Formats: sequence, structure tokens, C-alpha cells
Amino acid sequence: MTDTPLAGDTAITRPTIKGHIRENTFAGILSFMRRRYTKDLAGVDVVVSGVPLDLATTNRPGARFGPAGIRAASVDLNWEIYPWGFGPCDRLGVIDYGDCVLDPHRPDTIHDSIVAHARTILASGATMLTLGGDHYITYPLLAAHAEKHGKPLSIVHFDAHSDTWPDDDDKSLNHGTMFYKAVREGLIDPKSSVQVGIRTWNGDCLGVNVFGADWVHEHGPAATAAKVLDIVGDRPVYLTFDIDCLDPAFAPGTGTPVSGGLSAAQAYAILRRLVPVRIIGMDVVEVAPAYDHAEITSLAGAQIAAEMLCLLGAQRGSGSDAPAVGSEVGEHSQYGSLPTDKVE
Ligand code: MN
Ligand code: MN
Repeated sequence: MTDTPLAGDTAITRPTIKGHIRENTFAGILSFMRRRYTKDLAGVDVVVSGVPLDLATTNRPGARFGPAGIRAASVDLNWEIYPWGFGPCDRLGVIDYGDCVLDPHRPDTIHDSIVAHARTILASGATMLTLGGDHYITYPLLAAHAEKHGKPLSIVHFDAHSDTWPDDDDKSLNHGTMFYKAVREGLIDPKSSVQVGIRTWNGDCLGVNVFGADWVHEHGPAATAAKVLDIVGDRPVYLTFDIDCLDPAFAPGTGTPVSGGLSAAQAYAILRRLVPVRIIGMDVVEVAPAYDHAEITSLAGAQIAAEMLCLLGAQRGSGSDAPAVGSEVGEHSQYGSLPTDKVE
């Protein structure tokens, strides 16, 4: 890798939408993982885009800067991802579509603006990987995905909060109630949906399968992932990761941090076991860089987004020119590997 010449501004100069091109991490035009910054959806497998909303936050706003923070932190992931052993963009055509345009002075237009943004992308046949924004954005994103894939969908939801607190106001912008609305409207099926990392009380989670952070700490990532795989089966799944699932030690830069959460390593160990899941859409939400320290929250958000791309890359397979997952490199084995306990 080090003998290839450096390129610059590959967000606009790269010749193809596939592959990883070496560029200084401290310079150049930002796009997610240095993907081409374009609205051209031809031949694209995965569209990364931002939805910079924080009008639905209850506590501290700031997630409107999340997409920019995650993009900035993602530039050092522009190569093979450990321990997958491949670069996801060697296997998938991935672009950065830019951000959904939202008018903060017209909150009643937010929902439909996000639905329209998603409809345009999904009509191309590409899969969406969306960078939030507060968690409300997942509600209109689910509506657009349900239009395309049929409802109800299942969700695999990482969070400190269930986000199923009651709210019968159709017009409310609330990042703690949108899954209540989604269940009520039949967008998601609670019985085949699962929440991981919860550690705030909700007396009625509407039948969604909940694995609290304490359950994960007691039983471990492998058992947690096995539960997830068992619950969702082969149903179409929308994967949504609220960064506050992570403990504030690993993600302080968020609006509603809650102590006692997952470590970054626990979260990755669960995610890496989800290759069998039929993922139809993905997001990473609630990164609020103003409360961050040393960019650790943005870094975790970028890593989670990269892990999501690797899930799709692993599903796609290696083709002829990509290294096999877990392959030995050089004369020494790499003493790390993907989990081998995954359920058939
Ligand atoms: Mn949430
Ligand atoms: Mn949360």
C-alpha cells in the first residue's frame, strides 16, 4: 500500500466508484471513506448520505453536525478493515450522496423531506447507509423502506433507549417515540424485532424483544448475536445504531448519554456476527460532535458505519481478486479473526 502514489481530493477525482485510493487523511475534500461525492446513482450498491437533523432531541441538540463528524473520522478507514481482511468498497460500489436538505424553520416539512430523499435513492436499487442526525430520522427512513420492501419490516436496534415511549401526536418531532409510531402504523413487526443495549426504563416496549446492556454484559456478544439471529430469521431487517448504545466512556459526544453501556469492542463483536441477516437499510445516529472529546464518538460512529458496509461486503463475497476473510498476511498469522461461532 505504501508504494502506491498518493492521490488528492479523491471524493471528486477518483475514476471509479469502487476501490480504495490512498490519500492523506489530513487533507482534501471530505466524503465518507473518500467515496465519490455524487448524485449519480448508476451502478451504485450502497449510498451513504447524511440527514443532519436535531430538532427532535429531548435533551442536548447537536446531532445535525453528526454526518460531518462521522465523515471526518471515516477518512482513516479508507482501506482494508480489520479483522474482515477486505476493503468493503473493493466489493461494493459505494458513493457519498451528500446530505438531505432540511429547512430547520419549517419543522412540519422534515418528515416528508426525509421520505423524499430516501425514495429517490431507493428507487435506484441501492441500499442506504444513513448518517444522522437524531434518531427521529429513522422513522421517515423506515416509511420509505417499507414502501419499497413491504411492511412490516423487522428492526435490529442498538440504543440506550427503547424509543417506544407513547406518543399519539402525528405531527410531533420526537427522537424517543418514533418506534412507538412505527409499531402502531405497522411499519415494524415487534415480535421479529430486537433492541440491544437498553438501560432506561420503559414499562411497555410493545412486544419488541429487548436485551438490556446488563444482559449483554452478563452473557456476552456471542450469545447476544445468537439471540438476534434467532429472532429476525430471514426477514428483511433495518439495522439502526444509536451511538448512545455505547457507554459514555466510548461515546460521550451524544445528546442523551447513559452510563453502563456497551464498549465499542462489544458492539463490534455483535455486529460482526450479523452476516446472515437480510439487511435492507442501515443508519448510525445521534453523534453530536460538540460534546465529544478527541473525536472518539465520531470515530466510533465511523467504525460502526464501516462495519455495516463490511457486513454487506461479506454477504457479497470475495470475488476473484479480494483476499479471503481471515486470510494469513505475510509470513505470520494475524492474531485476530472474525467470530467463528455464527449460527448457520
Ligand atoms: Mn435512539
Ligand atoms: Mn438513545
